[in-house]
Amino acid sequence: MLSRVLGQGLRLGARGSPALTSLGGARRLLNIHEADSQELMKSYGLNVARGAKAKSPEEAVTAAKSMSTSKVVLKAQVLAGGRGKGVFDNGFSGGVHVLDNDESKVREIASQMIGHNLITKQTGKEGRPCNMIQVVEAVNVQKEFYLALLLDRAAMGPVMIGSSQGGMDIEAVAAENPDAIVKLPIDIDGGLSMEAATNFARQMGIPDSCVDSAADQMVKLYQLFLERDCSLVEINPFAQVGPSEVMCLDAKLNFDDNAEFRQSGVFEKRDTTQENKADVEAAKFDLNYIQLDGNIGCLVNGAGLAMATMDIIQLHGGSPANFLDVGGGATARQVTEAFKLITQDPNVSAILVNIFGGIMRCDVIAEGIIHAASDLDLSVPIIVRLQGTNREEAKEMIANSGLDIISSDELDDAAFRAVQLSKIVELARQAHVHVTFREAERPHHDDDVMTPYFT
Ligand code: ADP
Ligand code: MG
Repeated sequence: MLSRVLGQGLRLGARGSPALTSLGGARRLLNIHEADSQELMKSYGLNVARGAKAKSPEEAVTAAKSMSTSKVVLKAQVLAGGRGKGVFDNGFSGGVHVLDNDESKVREIASQMIGHNLITKQTGKEGRPCNMIQVVEAVNVQKEFYLALLLDRAAMGPVMIGSSQGGMDIEAVAAENPDAIVKLPIDIDGGLSMEAATNFARQMGIPDSCVDSAADQMVKLYQLFLERDCSLVEINPFAQVGPSEVMCLDAKLNFDDNAEFRQSGVFEKRDTTQENKADVEAAKFDLNYIQLDGNIGCLVNGAGLAMATMDIIQLHGGSPANFLDVGGGATARQVTEAFKLITQDPNVSAILVNIFGGIMRCDVIAEGIIHAASDLDLSVPIIVRLQGTNREEAKEMIANSGLDIISSDELDDAAFRAVQLSKIVELARQAHVHVTFREAERPHHDDDVMTPYFT
């Protein structure tokens, strides 16, 4: 159970990874930068280190001068966890630097960070752009703890998670030393009392002298979590910084996207430069799009059908380029946008459309496909399998469109053709020839494939 609670927390905790969690609709969790999170936390009376944003080395120098401390911390504002151990694409290592508050040092390190991509274990090999750093006053860290609040399915409500093993990789703590992790389900009606928070602070190993400060911070964090519609608040490290004081030295806040209408101030902080471009586009049109590394683009309605489609492609020796679910009630516009997303991926060498028309009408899908195919000047074969409501109308529309769209009634046949045709396209690309496809007459049997026309 505990591992499930943690599992969810850690998954949600990825600073930059939008989670696909629901059928029939894209669901994304907003992540905001640590600097913005800390401003919000300050307004709740939370104890955060004084800091300022800097978008250039000169701004960093000015910010550092305004700090009274002898040391400052420069922190890459990149939406990914594990920044401290990250590496920039210029070879400079570390997304978090504690250094002397010295003008030339600040300038030098800031210039190695700003304008470069930071690669961490959560970003993939391209990393994420560091367009801004936070200059923070360094505090005297005595011990680092881990503290998180998240929504847990098993507990059917908020759960607080704490550990004495903070600062480091909490997944490793969960794997190697699970006893060092404690959790407390919180009754959403009753809230978190000072008493419960005090007990929890003791359980997670906070020294007696700091228990009051820790409990006070927990109650305030819970208030923020609740009022701001967070799905996750993760403070790592939650640090002891004085004889009787704790501080929230890092902040990872995720917000439920359904709350956008009442959390406009928070949602204004969204930084799309940190997100996958295709994902930003998909979100605009409420599409579930996950890019994969194969070469057959899939356009499907319903997550179950999407998975079956990916499976059957693999069964025929192919590999899906994406998972794209247009949802149960897609419009022709969404289908067009879905095609745009698929064809932006240079690896795509065939597109398989597999739609089951239930509430969704096949003719609406056909309209979108025809629109996209004529608009986008597609150079890859499109294989369409439509079943269900208004299938005949849809097939007729496609047949009369004058476009080279290949129809197939059976999923097996459609997947087989997609895989075979993608191979031809790949070969043609290698040979630098252009190839187009047209449906051949199939009077006798079903297992022939398209006739390629080399031009
Ligand atoms: P990340 O988790 O992305 O690596 P953190 O903000 O947790 O980044 O910073 C990494 C480490 O740097 C922390 O675990 C802490 O030891 C240290 N650190 C962060 N902020 C401060 C600060 N204001 N003063 C002193 N040390 C800090
Ligand atoms: Mg951290």
